[in-house]
Amino acid sequence: MTFNELNLIPPILKALAKENYTAPTPIQEQSIPAVLAGKDLLGCAQTGTGKTAAFSLPIIQLLSASGQQGRTSGTRKIRSLILTPTRELALQIAENIGAYSQFTTLRCSAIVGGVSQKAQERALYFGADIIIATPGRLIDLMNQQRINLQHVEILVLDEADRMLDMGFIHDVKRIIAKMPAKKQTLFFSATMPPEIAKLVKTLLVNPVKVEI
Ligand code: AMP
Repeated sequence: MTFNELNLIPPILKALAKENYTAPTPIQEQSIPAVLAGKDLLGCAQTGTGKTAAFSLPIIQLLSASGQQGRTSGTRKIRSLILTPTRELALQIAENIGAYSQFTTLRCSAIVGGVSQKAQERALYFGADIIIATPGRLIDLMNQQRINLQHVEILVLDEADRMLDMGFIHDVKRIIAKMPAKKQTLFFSATMPPEIAKLVKTLLVNPVKVEI
């Protein structure tokens, strides 16, 4: 199969060609059509399988196809939030999305701990369509009322079981509570402990299941 056959738009195909991606990986073949169709997704896949592009490419396409991106500061709304357990993963995902969306007008930004908050506050002020965040710093910014999640259309929970192991589950639930109930959710977890299974049940509606 080719990326062309997955009905991706020209600016994305151009970015993939530039990255020297020739064919989609199995998880990308399975996930991209489901996400483009607006479905919730439950993915059981490890890092290294091409999982990041599997959720990022259709998100970029859905957000590019709809909605108005504001041109002045503060008018761009956060339309997709990607939650991931570690700073390293968040920065890696942000870098990938930056590359995949380079020929679109979308903006993405990483919100992670361990670095000064100032630059992240500025990025939020100027606006981003896609935020890639670790739960701790996002909660800090939420408590300071510096972030508005009321316009999130697509939520990604990446490595949900690791977020549970790292003690983030309470933060994750608080973050989800700030988003609209009606949204598309893409949920990735390598294992399914009871606490995660419960979250899946409350969050996902008729999910397409993808396993690698
Ligand atoms: P991930 O599992 O998302 O961390 O991706 C693992 C690595 O594979 C990353 O370095 C990606 O840039 C790369 N990658 C993802 N999808 C493809 C693809 N379809 N073709 C070639 N490389 C890819």
